[in-house]
Amino acid sequence: MQRYPHWIDGKPCPPAGGTWLGVSEPASGKVIAQVAAGNAHDVDGAIAAAARAFPSWSSLPNSQRARWLERLADALEDRLEDVAQAESRDGGKPITLARDVEIPRAIANLRFFAHAATQFASESHHGEAGLNFTLRQALGVVATISPWNLPLYLFTWKIAPALAAGNCVVAKPSEVTPHSATLLAEIAADIGFPSGVFNLVHGAGPAVGEALVTHPQVKAISFTGSTVVGKRIATLAAPLLKKVSLELGGKNPTLVFADSDWRANLDTIVRSAFQNSGQICLCGSRLLIERAIYDEFRDAFVARVQALRVGDPSDPATQLGPLVSQAHFDKVLRALATARDEGAQVLCGGAAIDRPGWFIAPTVLEGLGPDSATNREEIFGPVVTLQTFDDDDHALALANASDYGLVATLWDRNLPRALRFSRELRTGMIWINTWLMRDLRTPFGGSNQSGLGREGGVEAMRFFTEAKNVGIGT
Ligand code: NAD
Repeated sequence: MQRYPHWIDGKPCPPAGGTWLGVSEPASGKVIAQVAAGNAHDVDGAIAAAARAFPSWSSLPNSQRARWLERLADALEDRLEDVAQAESRDGGKPITLARDVEIPRAIANLRFFAHAATQFASESHHGEAGLNFTLRQALGVVATISPWNLPLYLFTWKIAPALAAGNCVVAKPSEVTPHSATLLAEIAADIGFPSGVFNLVHGAGPAVGEALVTHPQVKAISFTGSTVVGKRIATLAAPLLKKVSLELGGKNPTLVFADSDWRANLDTIVRSAFQNSGQICLCGSRLLIERAIYDEFRDAFVARVQALRVGDPSDPATQLGPLVSQAHFDKVLRALATARDEGAQVLCGGAAIDRPGWFIAPTVLEGLGPDSATNREEIFGPVVTLQTFDDDDHALALANASDYGLVATLWDRNLPRALRFSRELRTGMIWINTWLMRDLRTPFGGSNQSGLGREGGVEAMRFFTEAKNVGIGT
C-alpha cells in the first residue's frame, strides 16, 4: 500500500513514532494508502531544518525567491494530471473540478506570490521631524495548517506568501487528504528547491498541529479549518503572543431579488450551493428569495438540483462526488435528522445514496426559520435551505442572522440596493451577480465566527512579515 511520509529538509522521512494512519477513498469507503502519524519529535525535526535554512533563504534577493516559486509552479504544472488524480481520489472531488479549477488555482497561487515577492514594498513617511521608513522583514519559521476541502489550493495559498516573504515553513496538510501536498514536496525535491525551506509534517490535528502552534520557534500560524479548532489554536497561541491568521467556517447567505437575472444565472446559483458537494467554505447554504418569485424560483432550482450528476469522482461527467469521510458523512446525516426534527420539508434529496462510499443526495429544504439549528450551524455538505423575504430590511435581517460572517452573494440588478447591502451585510466578502470570483490581490477572510485576519495579496505578505519602523532625524 502506498505510504505518504513527511518531507523534512528536502527528504522523505518516516514518522518518528513508527505509526501510520489510514487514508480512505470516499467513493468506495476503502483504505487506499497510509500517511505518517507525526508527533512532536517530527515537528521538532522539521522546525530545526527550517531554522537552519532561514538565514540563507531570507537573505536571497527577492527575485531569486520569486524564481524558485515560479520553478515550483512550472514543475507542478508539468505534473498537473497526477496531482489532480491524487486529489480526486483521496478527497472524492470530481476529477474535472480538480483538473480544471483547483490544481490550476494552486499553480496560480505560486505564480501570484512569486510576483508578489518582487512587488512587495513598504511605506515611508516624510514629516516635519524627519523621515520614517518601514522595513518588513521575514518572521523566521512559520507554520501553516490546512483542511481537506481544497487541499492543495489552500495549502499553496499559505505557503506561497510565507516563502515569498522570506520565511521557512513547516506545513501540515489535513490527514484526510494528504496526497497532493506530498506530491508537491516530492516535486520541490525533484527541482532542487533549497532544503529545509519548505517542510511537510503529516498527522492528526492535536498531535502535530498543537505541537506546531506551541513550539517556541514558530513565529506565526496561518490556519484554515473549523471554527472550533480555530478557537483552540487561538487559545494556545494567545499566551505565547504569536501571530495568528484564522480562516474558519461559514453559513453563507445567497440573496435572490425578484428583479435579478436569476433565470439566466441559475446554473451558477446551483453551483454556488453545491460545488464540491457543498464542501467549500464559500458555498451559499442559506438561500434567501424574494417572496414574489419564490414558487417559480423554488421549482426551477429544485429541478436543476435534481438533474445534478452525482457519481464516481473519476468520471469526467460527474458533477458531485461523495463526502470526504465517514465522520463527515455521519455529521451531515445527523444534520438532516435535526432538520426533519425541526419540521423541514425536504424538496429533494435528504438521504444517503444507496451505493458504496459516502454519497448524500443533494438536498433542498424549506420551512425553517432563521433561528433553527439547520439555519445557524455549518453543515458543510450538499444541503441548502430556502427562506423567503418581503423587503430589503427583512432580507438584511435574515442574511445577518448568523454568528458567522464569511461571504454573502447577491443576485440583484438594483445598484443602490446592492451598495447598501455591501455596507450593511456583516461578512468579510460580498459577491454581486457572480460567485467565487477570485482576484488574488483582494483581502480574503471572514468576520465574527468566520475568522480573524485576512489573506491574499499584500495582506498575506504583511502577515508573514514583521514591520520595523526606522526614524531618521533631520
Ligand atoms: P478542521 O478544523 O477539523 O481541520 C483543519 C486542520 O486543522 C487539519 O489539518 C487538522 O488536522 C488540523 N487540526 C485539527 N485539530 C487541531 C488542533 N487541535 N490543533 C491544530 N490543528 C488541528 O477542519 P476540516 O474539517 O479539515 O475543514 C473543514 C472546515 O474548514 C469547515 O469548517 C470549513 O468552513 C473550514 N474552511 C474555511 C475556509 C476559509 O477560508 N474560511 C476555507 C476552507 C475550509
